[in-house]
This record gives sequence, C-alpha cells and structure tokens, in this order.
Amino acid sequence: MQIPYLDLKRINACHNLSGRLSAVLESGWYLKGKEILQFEQAFATYCHTQYCAGVGSGLDALTLILLACKEMGLVKDGNEVIIPSLTFVATIEAVLRAGLTPRLCEVNPQTCTMDADEAERLVNRRTRLLLPVQLYGCDIDRRLLDVAETHGLEVVVDAAQAHGLKHHPQVLADAYSFYPAKNLGALGDGGAVTTDNGQLDRIVRCLANYGSEEKYTHRLRGLNSRLDELQAAVLSSKLNTLDQDNRRRNHLAQRYLKEIEWQRLELDTIHPDSCVYHVFPVFTDRRDPLKDHLKNRGIETLLHYPLPVHRQEAYRSRFAEVSLPLTEQICRTELSLPIGPYLSDEEASYIIRQVNAF
Ligand SMILES: *Cc1c(COP(=O)(O)O)cnc(C)c1O
Repeated sequence: MQIPYLDLKRINACHNLSGRLSAVLESGWYLKGKEILQFEQAFATYCHTQYCAGVGSGLDALTLILLACKEMGLVKDGNEVIIPSLTFVATIEAVLRAGLTPRLCEVNPQTCTMDADEAERLVNRRTRLLLPVQLYGCDIDRRLLDVAETHGLEVVVDAAQAHGLKHHPQVLADAYSFYPAKNLGALGDGGAVTTDNGQLDRIVRCLANYGSEEKYTHRLRGLNSRLDELQAAVLSSKLNTLDQDNRRRNHLAQRYLKEIEWQRLELDTIHPDSCVYHVFPVFTDRRDPLKDHLKNRGIETLLHYPLPVHRQEAYRSRFAEVSLPLTEQICRTELSLPIGPYLSDEEASYIIRQVNAF
C-alpha cells in the first residue's frame, strides 16, 4: 500500500470545483466581487464572529491584525508579543513585520500549545499581547485568557491549523490560513481575519487594500493582500464539508489513540480537550528509525517541526540566550502520521499495523 502524507488531489476531487471555477471565469469579475462577500459572510457565521475579512495569506492575516492593533493604539513599536517557539515561522515573521518584539515561550506537554504559566513568567511592563498558536489543531490553554485578563493583555490567535475550533469571545482576532494543505485549503494562497471588533475589521480591510477605503484616497500606508474570487468560490464550496472532514479526522485520531500500542512502543502523543487534528503527532526517541520503517512500507510522514524558531538560521541570533528544553525535545522526537479526511479505514488499519510492527 502507498499512502502519501496528504493527497490534495483526492481532497479536492470530492468537490465539484471545475463548475465553480468556470462560473467565476465567465463572470469577468476577479477581485472584490460577490464570491468574496459570500465567503466572508459564510466563514464569519461558521466561526461565530461578527466579521471576517479575506486576505492574501495566513502570514498577512497575522501581520494585518498586529498592524491594526497599532493603528488602534493597543500596541506601539518595541512592545513585546509572547509567542511559542514551536510553530511555523509565519508567527514570528508577522510580529517582526509589524515592528514589535517577539518573546519566545515554552509549550505545554499535554497539547504542545503555549503554556500559560510560562507565558505569565515572561510578562513585563513592555508586554501588550499574547499570540498563542492552535498547533496541530489543538485549542489554546484557557488559562492563557486568565493571564491576559490579570495583566491587561490582548490575545490574538494563530488559527492557521485550527479551522473548526470555537472562537473565544475574549480573543481580539483569529488569523486563518487557507494554504492548500490546511483543514480548509484553497487552490493557492489565502487567509482570513475573523473578529467581533468592528474597528479592527475596518482597519484590516483598509490596510489590506493599499490603505484605501475609497478609490484613490489613501488614509493609511497599506499593502496589497486580497483573497480573490476564484479562491473564495473554492473555499465556499469546501466550507460546506469542513465539519464532516473534521469529524473524519477525529475518527481517525480516535482509532490511532485506541489501536496504536503506545506503552509497548514507548510512544506518546498530545492529550487535548479540544482538537481538529490538523496534524496527528507521535513522539519517540526513535523517531528517525520509525520514519524510515514507515517509509519502507509505503507510508509517508512529516515532521512538525524539525527546528524551533529560536534555532532557525534567520532568527537564532536574536535568541542566543533562549533555552526551551521541551520545545527542543518535541522537535527531536515528533513524527506526523497521515490523517487526511479522505483516508479510508483500511488505510488507517494499515498505518496502525505498521506502527505496531515497529
Ligand atoms: C500555515 C501556517 C501559517 C501561515 O500561513 P500561510 O498562508 O502559508 O502564510 C501560520 N501559522 C501557522 C501555525 C501555520 O501552520
């Protein structure tokens, strides 16, 4: 049996996308039309937020939220934002692009998301914002919301891996990515900002459109970051099956949890309260041999992530003093099993058998 980590062709074949794409082509209107309006409304409803603004990517969604926070006077140059080091680099890149100072935080062993106690230890008088990541599709540690309240901090969530988790009313804004491999993926790049804050929504839209609300009048210095009509049409179609897809991911995760011989193999995984299983991680000191074993039996796996942010060449000079032992251990021991929503029970059984044979 051959099982790729993720088969995007198979995911997209479940939707009649050619019809939707042709309709947009025929319409002669490719940006800021009815498809994006429709998708923004549908995604806001889905997320239980008042507003949704489609943007060019997940990185842009994060960057635009932070720039809007500056316009609103919630943060200023040099203020600190606490983020996990166990994440995709977009999280730190957005903080740096917005002219803010990232502080890297340790994660919680239960969920691999930012640890509330460790975050609280990093709070000082320059801290204004917590930016946790719903890594692997796991929800944030709710105690982070208490830490934010105690210290008067805003919370922005990197929800790029977590389409389908509930929005926390205390969170100022959630940043989504529609990179093709995400739980809700486009046929290219895309992203969205969801929020209940009307002012933030207005500023994000303005900044994403060259700082303009009225054609050829530019109130702010902005950028060009738009979700186009083709991608919006694809996403509207795929949003219809997102809950069903996430239930399938959860079913596969429950099988892995029950049927993999965790103790005998000295393996571990996450133990979340709430998760949409964008990634199903297993942790083992024999990670590389397990990866090879599965590869030789036709099963492709990935690593999330082989290096934490503070060990990446592009960022490490800023963090020479930073030591995050748990994060580093996770990067050394993590292996992601296939968990696409189309994966059959036979394929899951095969994966489980081959892991147990290791
Ligand atoms: C995918 C991802 C992003 C960035 O999304 P892009 O659309 O590729 O810019 C940000 N954060 C996390 C945690 C991600 O997984």
